[in-house]
Amino acid sequence: MTQKVLIANRGEIALRALRACKELDLKTVAIYSAGDKELKHLRLADETVCVGPSSPIESYLNIPAILSAAELTGADAIYPGYGFLAEDADFAEKCESSGFIFIGPSSSVIRQMGDKITAKDLAEQSNIPIVPGYRGSLPTEEHAVKEVAAGVGYPLIIKASAGGGGRGMRVVQEESELCSAIQLTQQEAKNAFGNDTLYLEKFIQNPRHIEIQIVADGKGKAIHLGTRDCSMQRRHQKIIEEAPAQDVNLVELEKTMEACLDLCRGLSYSGVGTIEFLYEDNKFYFIEMNTRIQVEHPVSEMITGFDLVKAQLKIALGIKIDLNQDEIIFRGHAIECRINAEDPETFVPSPGLISKMHPPGGFGVRFDSHIYSGYIVPPYYDSLLAKIITTANTRESCIKRMLSALDEFFVDGIKTNHSLHQRLLSDETFCQNKHDINYLEGVFLSS
Ligand code: ADP
Repeated sequence: MTQKVLIANRGEIALRALRACKELDLKTVAIYSAGDKELKHLRLADETVCVGPSSPIESYLNIPAILSAAELTGADAIYPGYGFLAEDADFAEKCESSGFIFIGPSSSVIRQMGDKITAKDLAEQSNIPIVPGYRGSLPTEEHAVKEVAAGVGYPLIIKASAGGGGRGMRVVQEESELCSAIQLTQQEAKNAFGNDTLYLEKFIQNPRHIEIQIVADGKGKAIHLGTRDCSMQRRHQKIIEEAPAQDVNLVELEKTMEACLDLCRGLSYSGVGTIEFLYEDNKFYFIEMNTRIQVEHPVSEMITGFDLVKAQLKIALGIKIDLNQDEIIFRGHAIECRINAEDPETFVPSPGLISKMHPPGGFGVRFDSHIYSGYIVPPYYDSLLAKIITTANTRESCIKRMLSALDEFFVDGIKTNHSLHQRLLSDETFCQNKHDINYLEGVFLSS
């Protein structure tokens, strides 16, 4: 019998998932909020259900409403995408206990990886290199906590175990700042996450962000799709991503990849996942594992020809999939530019009517987007409008192809960060691949 998938997301990733479902002959249910009636994928889905008003809390984060929609439409499985409920272990657990297949790893794996201390303990047990630090409970007396911090060394970063999305972190340059910084972060963590457990890590000063894409079948088999470099970031939000990461120490990479696969095999990991690292002076430092599809997944798809979203669906729905590492052939380079509805200088969001738009096209150009001429970008959600992805044999020709694609791309009516991408793709430091995670904010935008 044809299986039915409820897509519990919006925007480009909902459209991406819908396309994959169609290719696998799966029926689709698209959910939407009252402020999202004009989403492109709603016109292409077999069924649509409004799950609440525009506010994300009342719609895309509304677990009872989403489960009711699944019940009502007789869906077999729920596709979470990224953001919203994608890494919410309680949601995955409720899907499981209500008899729906959650398209992703089990709720217990999501829970383990969502707790940063547990994730680091597990990573360390699989010999994944981690940032040196202190993950025991922090002593309350001032002299004792200072001693622990001195053991880690300055500068250090205080992190909330339950933190996420770049929140719940504070850098401490020297001992005199330590105690007040701990107090503040503890308070913030308690308010934001309801859990004030903290840990300390050495602050890596000028790293690149490199991540490894994993696919695993839930039965102890795991393969990798290589690396991505996502060092071009602003406020921990990635802006440009590419695959593969270049100028990486191959001996360290090989060891690190093997350790990542060991971790996934050990967890009987099911679906796709990304293990993120900071990389400095030829060394990898694990920061976290994301148990979902990433925004930047297309660059890995373009250099391997492997469809990650179809893999997610197949693994979860028990459709036969061959995961053989030696059949993954890496070819060329791919770059993704995230086009956001925002002012290119102030970064203030810019929702509103797209009066006209032209997508880029041509050989080696991919355009993943839900926007069209006449679409109104609602003000309630993430500002991602489109992902332009180019592929070519070398990084240099990939950059040229992206510049040409950016020239073709045109959006009228709202502001976008289009021109920021044009400037970045022509920037010498970027072209020479010499940027790190601090470059965009610390150098490029402040000069
Ligand atoms: P979150 O889950 O909130 O995104 P992460 O642990 O993934 O938190 O860290 C987010 C970002 O913070 C990283 O991409 C990096 O830019 C910075 N960061 C985190 N840990 C360190 C560290 N030890 N040294 C330097 N920068 C760090």
